[in-house]
Amino acid sequence: MMKSDYLRSVYSQVLARDPDQKEFQQAVLEVLESLDLIVGDHPEYEANGIIESFVEPERIVCFRVPWTDDQGRTRVNRGYRVQFSSSIGPYKGGLRFHPTVNLSILKFLGFEQILKNSLTGLPLGGAKGGSDFDPKGKSDGEVMRFCQSFMTELYRHIGQFTDVPAGDIGVGGREIGFLFGQYRRIQASYAAGVLTGKGLAFGGSLGRTEATGYGLCYLTEEMLGHMRQDSFKGKTVVISGSGNVAIFACEKATALGAKVVALSDSSGYIHDPNGIRLEVVKDIKLGHRGRISEYADRVPGSTCHEGFRGIWNIPCDIALPCATQNEIDGDMAKTIVKNGAIAVAEGANMPCRPEAIHVFQEAGLLFAPAKAANAGGVATSGLEMSQNSIRSIWSFEEVDRKLQSIMAGIFHNIYDASAACGDKGNLAAGANIAGFLKVAGAMLAQGTI
Ligand code: NDP
Repeated sequence: MMKSDYLRSVYSQVLARDPDQKEFQQAVLEVLESLDLIVGDHPEYEANGIIESFVEPERIVCFRVPWTDDQGRTRVNRGYRVQFSSSIGPYKGGLRFHPTVNLSILKFLGFEQILKNSLTGLPLGGAKGGSDFDPKGKSDGEVMRFCQSFMTELYRHIGQFTDVPAGDIGVGGREIGFLFGQYRRIQASYAAGVLTGKGLAFGGSLGRTEATGYGLCYLTEEMLGHMRQDSFKGKTVVISGSGNVAIFACEKATALGAKVVALSDSSGYIHDPNGIRLEVVKDIKLGHRGRISEYADRVPGSTCHEGFRGIWNIPCDIALPCATQNEIDGDMAKTIVKNGAIAVAEGANMPCRPEAIHVFQEAGLLFAPAKAANAGGVATSGLEMSQNSIRSIWSFEEVDRKLQSIMAGIFHNIYDASAACGDKGNLAAGANIAGFLKVAGAMLAQGTI
């Protein structure tokens, strides 16, 4: 528990206000425990109510999303936008379409996004949004009608200088295209900077699709090099998920000389001891939105297993959880340690439960927290916004070079912050502190309390 009375009282207030928001409480506690290392040196935070403000979203929008299915029936989902912090830039954060979406999950994601965006060094505030709509099994027409209805309400709350959404689970290039089309029609103007992750033909950035997975590997490579004089070369890697983040993490880890032996989706995982053939995965997942189990039917020597959690029983040197929140608990973490892993880097948001992070840190594994490790996606969204503003298009190589430099910068920033707060190498604490100091400084300077 935290030593600071001030932080304990802020946390009690969070618990009392929203007793059912477990994911949000978990994210707040993890950050406050890190801030406990520095808050004693900053009496101005308590005097100005900075941390109370920091844990309360500036605004939450919640709305009805009616749409028509292919049978002509009206269906109704719920839409949200959590505009958490605009202290250092316009609200920025993805939209998630998944049946599990609720306010607790979006508040945790929006809260994490504030710190992640701060770490990128770009002027971006924090937000998150989405809906409990499930795109899985829906036709393109149904997804389009849902997206149009969603944007028919959301458009009044967003804009290139106010709030810039992007994709997340269940929201990829197809959905962003439909959302942007509806925004453009309603506004009757071409404000490309209102959404990121757009198609290349209408204001998207080269390298945005790959950015989160590539960025995860760039930061991991920097961490391995700096903290262990090691690299991906020759390592065995397990990656959970098989969506946008997992696929491009697999591609970059392989390019850096590692062998990725497993991937998963929500129904199961595949194990290929010879190294995942990514062209087959791309064909299944990007080609026809199929299930990962198809891989085992197509690639001799590979096997398929039901239940996505079993993937963490496969021995690896480096674990990259890239599916969803809270997928690794304390027991799974112990298995990963027992199997000899040297590093864990979070591609998904909060995939490791607090007790799992504790197990990794106690065992001396390198641990890169999501808000640093997966910041490459939003950083490249920031680069997309820059290109939209200056009406220019940068080459893939230029964007990738900028991404590499941002990820290396993030690693050194959080490593240095961990050393400065007296817990050298605790990158989770370093990320929380480095991200927060910048936002808190802006809040104090602007009097936004
Ligand atoms: P996708 O929708 O492209 O892929 C998600 C993957 O995770 C799929 O393989 C999906 O399987 C699996 N998955 C989803 N929910 C569950 C669940 N409850 N249990 C098990 N598996 C699940 O999403 P992304 O790759 O974009 O996002 C993955 C993670 O990365 C998320 O935590 C997201 O917030 C985070 N992230 C994404 C960024 C981006 O740029 N896309 C940026 C930063 C973070 P199935 O298809 O069966 O549902």
